[in-house]
Amino acid sequence: MTSGDNLFGRLLGRTSATSLDTPGPPTPGLHLQLDHQGHVLSISGTLRPQLASHGVGETRPLLRELLCASSALSIEGRPADWQRQSLDLDFQGATGQVLHTRGWIEAEGDGWSLRLLDVSDLLAGSQLAQHREQNHQLACQMSGQLRVCSLTRLPEVFNEHLRSLAQRWRIPCVALALLDEEDQGWRIYSHYAAHDAPALWRTGQHLGTSLDSVSGNTPLSLAQERSDNPRLQSIFGNADGFLVPYRDSQGVAAWLLCGLYNGQPHTSEQDWLNLTAALAAPLLSRLREQRYHQQLDRMEALQGLLGTGWWELLPATDEIQLAPQLLHSLSPEDGPSRQPLDLWLELIHPADRQELNSRLHDLQALGKPLLTSVRLQRTDAEHNPLWYRVQGQVLGMGDNRRWVGFMLDISDIKNQQLQAAAAHARLDNLIASSPAVIYVQRYVSGALHPAFFSDSLLPLLGWTLAECSHDSLASLIHPEDRDLYFERTRQLLREGAVRSRYRLRDKQGHYHWLLDEAKLLRDDLGLPLEAVGLWLDVTEATQAAEQIKQSEERYRLLVEDSPAMICRYRPDLTLTFGNTPLANYLECLPAQLPGLNLGHWLSEEQRQAFVQRIGQLSAEFPVSTAEISLELPGREHAWWVWSDRGVFDEQGTLVEVQAVGRDNTEVRRSQQQLTQSAKMATLGEMATGLAHEINQPLNVMRMAIVNVLKRLSNGDAQIDYLTEKLQRIDTQVQRAARVVDHMRVFGRRSEIEQQLFDPSQAVDGTLSLLGEGLRGKGVEVRVTPADSAVQVKGYVDQLEQVLINLVVNARDALLSKRDKDPTFRPWVAVHCEHDSRHVRIWVEDNGGGIDPRLLERIFEPFFTTKPIGVGTGLGLSVSYGIVENMGGRLSVTNGEHGARFCVELPIS
Ligand code: ADP
Repeated sequence: MTSGDNLFGRLLGRTSATSLDTPGPPTPGLHLQLDHQGHVLSISGTLRPQLASHGVGETRPLLRELLCASSALSIEGRPADWQRQSLDLDFQGATGQVLHTRGWIEAEGDGWSLRLLDVSDLLAGSQLAQHREQNHQLACQMSGQLRVCSLTRLPEVFNEHLRSLAQRWRIPCVALALLDEEDQGWRIYSHYAAHDAPALWRTGQHLGTSLDSVSGNTPLSLAQERSDNPRLQSIFGNADGFLVPYRDSQGVAAWLLCGLYNGQPHTSEQDWLNLTAALAAPLLSRLREQRYHQQLDRMEALQGLLGTGWWELLPATDEIQLAPQLLHSLSPEDGPSRQPLDLWLELIHPADRQELNSRLHDLQALGKPLLTSVRLQRTDAEHNPLWYRVQGQVLGMGDNRRWVGFMLDISDIKNQQLQAAAAHARLDNLIASSPAVIYVQRYVSGALHPAFFSDSLLPLLGWTLAECSHDSLASLIHPEDRDLYFERTRQLLREGAVRSRYRLRDKQGHYHWLLDEAKLLRDDLGLPLEAVGLWLDVTEATQAAEQIKQSEERYRLLVEDSPAMICRYRPDLTLTFGNTPLANYLECLPAQLPGLNLGHWLSEEQRQAFVQRIGQLSAEFPVSTAEISLELPGREHAWWVWSDRGVFDEQGTLVEVQAVGRDNTEVRRSQQQLTQSAKMATLGEMATGLAHEINQPLNVMRMAIVNVLKRLSNGDAQIDYLTEKLQRIDTQVQRAARVVDHMRVFGRRSEIEQQLFDPSQAVDGTLSLLGEGLRGKGVEVRVTPADSAVQVKGYVDQLEQVLINLVVNARDALLSKRDKDPTFRPWVAVHCEHDSRHVRIWVEDNGGGIDPRLLERIFEPFFTTKPIGVGTGLGLSVSYGIVENMGGRLSVTNGEHGARFCVELPIS
């Protein structure tokens, strides 16, 4: 402003003595004398030589004619009109330049005197000021926009400003470099290059520390600086340019780099500094703000994740302020972040509340740092308690003291700790209450010295560690087991592990059987350190094993001496054990039994049935009883009542069968005899029917013979006639033979094995024996033939015997009824039916049925309503046994007309 001050001084007449009062030189500026019309009479003054026409002479030009066109217009009229105002006049200069002047006019003598001063520099100054003003406005505008734009748009807005800066000053390449926080070098934050200029830099480029060495007080022209700072070469290369620093309290914080550019005169260094500051200061503050926000976000996220947060005590109001995250994790229904201390303490579990309160008090009053763990008072009790670590300290001094701290959710760790402690306690408890003692023996020069016993030692043996010292331990061992114990120690040291069993005396003098398992621990060099082991009191188990051995012996004797056959065999019927009675039956020694196969004494069918029956055993129904028939050495047949019990493994697979058997052959024989005699009795009863049955063909034959003889005697015995008669006789002979044959078959003993047969065979047999006889006695026989053949298993002759019994009984009932009522028309009906599982043979009559009171008793042996000598009372009871033996059922009901018997048999 120095030049401006001088100028105003000159204008105001306060010109300093040095500039104007120097004697000699002509009046400064221009001094023109004008006449009343404005003609220039004379020109003098220091500026005179600079005028285009400084010679006035005779021509006396008008003042207007000396001025530039623009200025000439500003003076109208005559000099008298121009008084009392400041005149700005631009003269045409001698070299074509313009001479800017300012002055005033005053009357002087007869004319006018116009005094003017050169104001070129004043005008330049004002132009400069105008520029500066514009720069300032630009700076304000830029910094204003940078301050208010959103953080996301900040780089864009900034780059926009760089561009307008570059365009305004015609700088081809411009960039802003900022200190990089992390590696302390400089980095291009943003750059702009005109489209026709090479891009010297790119955004994000790292410039290293080359700018650190530049002083950074004023803008630097590269031309001057390059020689001092060769490192700038790395930034600008060979391009021209200059750098403008921005300094804040910590020193240079930013550089504006202008490349390929040599500053222009009307932008001063200060302007550049201001401009740079207008760009850099708001940018840096916004970036700081951004970093702060990021940090805050990170902090908040971290606090949220860790369930942690800060707190601050406000003793003045007895309040506490909490970080929002902390507040949220403490009480999900968010309260105010600032709350009375008492209210906050309510959140803490009563067990920890008082302690925390007192520690907070210590922190406030004594400045004692706070560190404690507290539980939260939670209403949802099924959760594990929430544990927080509370830490606090005093910040600052005197009146600036603050009491701050944080809370950290340590529930996981704490609950694990508690669980581990509980598990530990449980384990201790378990060991203490178990019949086991854990011990440690320390290795001392070749010997093992007891060093630790678990608490269970005292309840188990009554001794303490001191009483079980190295010297006394051996004496506590049972004298018979001492050698064993010493050997145990030697083996432990030799092999690193041992398992042994010996007796140890307790305080009462009783010996305990101890199972001792020990392991030797060694150090890095392999030298023995200590032995860790376990004593298990196995006294009871040892005694129990002894008892089992004894009872096993007793059972063995029982089995051996039993009259019953007892054995064990595998599912494939191989014997694993058998007692003497069994061996006697099989004619060998008991010791020879294991390995023999039971199937050897069974017929193929019996064996199959046996294996099938064993296959049906299950863990739920492990027992099965049956009567089996065997072919024993030297005996015809034996019948054993045989009871099996399956032994199953965990998967339910049959492993072994234990069996008990009793010889039933005698019982079976008498049963067979009974059946046989019943059969014979039936045959006896049937005698009348049979006589009729045989008589019938005999009659037919007699008739035929009589007729043939008559023809022969007449002499007209044709060969055809004879053939026909002989065939008839033959048919009748066959019929009689069939009856006789059948009787013979029926009278035989039953087969040993059950056979498959069609039950209608038995129906046919019955009717062939009884049919004619019944009809002969006037009883109608109604037979419904079976619709299809089925097979049942048993004895066909025995089923026939059953049916004969039923039909004979029906006949007796019918005939006795007809005796009383000769008009009665008796009938007996036999019909078969079957479903998928059973075949049923119905025998029904119209004899009036059985007295309901007797219904239950008729199957009893020797129950009869017939006169003595007529009925045996065995028919139905034997029949019942036969049907049952075939796996079926014999039942009776009273039908509409009479008794209805039903033989039901399983289809095979
Ligand atoms: P028995 O025929 O020798 O008397 P059973 O055991 O065959 O012996 O019959 C027992 C009794 O059952 C008979 O005495 C008879 O009273 C009665 N009974 C059997 N069948 C019939 C029948 N169809 N109608 C009426 N009563 C019958």
